Amino acid sequence: SWARIRGRLRDEVGEVEYRTWLRQMTLVGIEDDEVVVNLPTRFLRDWVRSHYGDRLRALWQQEVAAVRSVDVRVGPQPRSAVPPDQDAAASAPAVRAGLAEALAPSPSRTVAADPRGEWSAPLDPRFTFDTFVVGKPNEFAYACARRVAEKPASPGFNPLFLYGGVGLGKTHLMHAVAWAIRGGEPARNVAYMSAEKFMYRFISALRSQSTMEFKESLRSVDVLMVDDLQFLIGKDNTQEEFFHTFNALIDAGKQIIISADKSPSDLNGLEDRLRTRLGCGMVADIHATTYELRLSILQAKATAAAVPVPKNVHEFLAHKITSNVRELEGALNRLIAHANLFGRAITLESAQDVLHDLLRAHDRRVTIEEIQRKVAEHYNIRLTDMSSARRARNVARPRQVAMYLAKQLTSRSLPEIGRRFGNRDHTTVMHAVSRISELMQADSAFAEDVELLRRMLET
Ligand code: ADP
Ligand code: MG
Repeated sequence: SWARIRGRLRDEVGEVEYRTWLRQMTLVGIEDDEVVVNLPTRFLRDWVRSHYGDRLRALWQQEVAAVRSVDVRVGPQPRSAVPPDQDAAASAPAVRAGLAEALAPSPSRTVAADPRGEWSAPLDPRFTFDTFVVGKPNEFAYACARRVAEKPASPGFNPLFLYGGVGLGKTHLMHAVAWAIRGGEPARNVAYMSAEKFMYRFISALRSQSTMEFKESLRSVDVLMVDDLQFLIGKDNTQEEFFHTFNALIDAGKQIIISADKSPSDLNGLEDRLRTRLGCGMVADIHATTYELRLSILQAKATAAAVPVPKNVHEFLAHKITSNVRELEGALNRLIAHANLFGRAITLESAQDVLHDLLRAHDRRVTIEEIQRKVAEHYNIRLTDMSSARRARNVARPRQVAMYLAKQLTSRSLPEIGRRFGNRDHTTVMHAVSRISELMQADSAFAEDVELLRRMLET
């Protein structure tokens, strides 16, 4: 139905964009296989035709298979008065001076090239609180996001500023807040956009001389989320505009959520007054993942995908792919796709094989010295004992562990490793490796201990 199509469009393009362009669209009727819709002005008609025409048709075809085309016309509006004519504004596009710096980074991506893409800010349906795995590194940010979703604009939480490295879940959390608020209170007007889109929307408004509408549409939101604010560094005009929007919304008791890759005080290149304002609510950082969090995330994602992934593959990935969640997810998806494609179960061997190139990039070279130092520290013995002739058990066993790890974690040959441990023979190293393997199988506490050391050395 028409209501459903409108709802879909709204979800796809986001509230602000929907209100700006599509809200006034009315259904005239269906003539043969053509759907006719009306908009109040020529400007709106042209815009909707060129930017949403295909999407409208596709959505209609999903509802009514017989529909071949959608005709967008200028026509009277039922009930409400026709809004002021926007044609005049549109016919005199102009870019205000001083925006050169904003357009400079990618001149090919002007608004005219692809306004539709730049205006849209759809939410990813996978990014909800349910699918967000909580662990030590992100629990604070998660708690803040939850709190804001439950009670937007409560004192102390406005603005909410989330920051952290790439691929650690900032966007996921923001979308989750948006979904939660839209789900709980559909009347609330939640706008999510990247800082980049904010800038392009702003420039586009300047060009079409519709900055008033731009300002109004932004200031009519209840919750404004701007993702990756670091993009505004050096974009002084846009920063200025953002600053005013920010203040207007905060003063009106609306919630603002910002994300960036650094804390407000570290965002050099943003105006001081803006940085100060950004930091005056709640600032929450998302830390780099831990082994435990990576493991939980893998398990959650594999379960969601309903694909059996053996425990040792989870552990292997959590050990090896430590950069961020996005890459971890990418690796798992690749294994799953591979398994589906070839109809074979995922095993440790196939994982190593499929992810070969990816893993090589992550392989950090661990040196024998590092291993000796870490192991000596761990067992509380002197570093010199790694090479000494002492054979007391409390020294000999850690030395064997270090040899074992040197074999596992480096590409050194047995004779080479022997030399580095006080000129020992390669058979001594071989013996150490097999002895430690045996002990690890027999004694799980010991095995965990060695695994812990390995983990510390690898990350
Ligand atoms: P950022 O915006 O910080 O660069 P994203 O939010 O885009 O990172 O996250 C990258 C990917 O990792 C997304 O697919 C996201 O769903 C996933 N992800 C990140 N953190 C988590 C988490 N704690 N639980 C589940 N998935 C996560
Ligand atoms: Mg992001």
